[in-house]
Amino acid sequence: MEIVTTVTELREKIKNWKREEERIGFVPTMGYLHEGHLSLVREAKKRSAKTVVSIFVNPKQFGPAEDYQIYPRDFKRDADLLEKEGVDLIFCPSVEEMYPAGYKTYVQVEDLENKLCGHSRPGHFRGVCTVVLKLFNLIQPDEAYFGWKDAQQVIILKKMVGDLNLPVKIRPMPLIREKDGLALSSRNIYLNSQERQAALVLYRSLELAEKQIKDGEKQAAKIKQSMIDLISAEPLARIDYVEIVDVQTLDSLEKIDGDALIALAVYFGRTRLIDNLRFISGVIEK
Ligand code: AMP
Repeated sequence: MEIVTTVTELREKIKNWKREEERIGFVPTMGYLHEGHLSLVREAKKRSAKTVVSIFVNPKQFGPAEDYQIYPRDFKRDADLLEKEGVDLIFCPSVEEMYPAGYKTYVQVEDLENKLCGHSRPGHFRGVCTVVLKLFNLIQPDEAYFGWKDAQQVIILKKMVGDLNLPVKIRPMPLIREKDGLALSSRNIYLNSQERQAALVLYRSLELAEKQIKDGEKQAAKIKQSMIDLISAEPLARIDYVEIVDVQTLDSLEKIDGDALIALAVYFGRTRLIDNLRFISGVIEK
């Protein structure tokens, strides 16, 4: 497994693979890897001759009051995990390598970036799109793997790839959870034991929504309110949003009579967790 930190060296490696017409699968991450990340890596390995994983805590996608400085990092552990998975190359640039002094260019997917997480994280998706486009340009993957854990991110990146005619296929992968239902996230490390326990209310609220949908409830407002009531009954939870939206436009739905995304963001102490359930072609994926 190669570990590459510079654009020049990365371009050289990619050029050689392209010359050999090797299919490249790419998994962008911010590191501190868990089974969610590794599920993407395994799928990439299955489908491509060469697998690249990037590890880069991207400052452009963090707001000024967010956790960029304290975001968990453990490169040695990550590299060991990726070596075991048989990854071909890790790209782990410095901030200066990605954004040299005088950097000015950004990518925005209008409208979609302002919905859901966009309210409380202005500029977040601009940062995500910018770094992902840069990484796509450098790595030139045939396929890139993203988790449904970050549903809005998947939807926005698909739009970006379509709008900009990028020659890469976005492959969204299922959300991986702990046995008790908590969605795996690098940020779960921030939770103390009471918050960790309280955070189970997120999965319970999605299960409640699932039950109502299965029982034939179509009114989004009713489902949403029952989720809000359940989450609000947990003293350690502070709701950022609970929304039921169209999976393409992210606009609020009044009725669930086709595909829908039920997404939420909730604070436990200073930690903001997100989770979601998708109702696609009559099937619930959570
Ligand atoms: P991050 O390191 O948080 O930027 O995540 C890197 C990639 O892993 C993104 O595509 C995430 O959606 C994905 N990911 C994170 N957590 C999970 C999870 N629990 N299940 C599936 N994919 C995940």
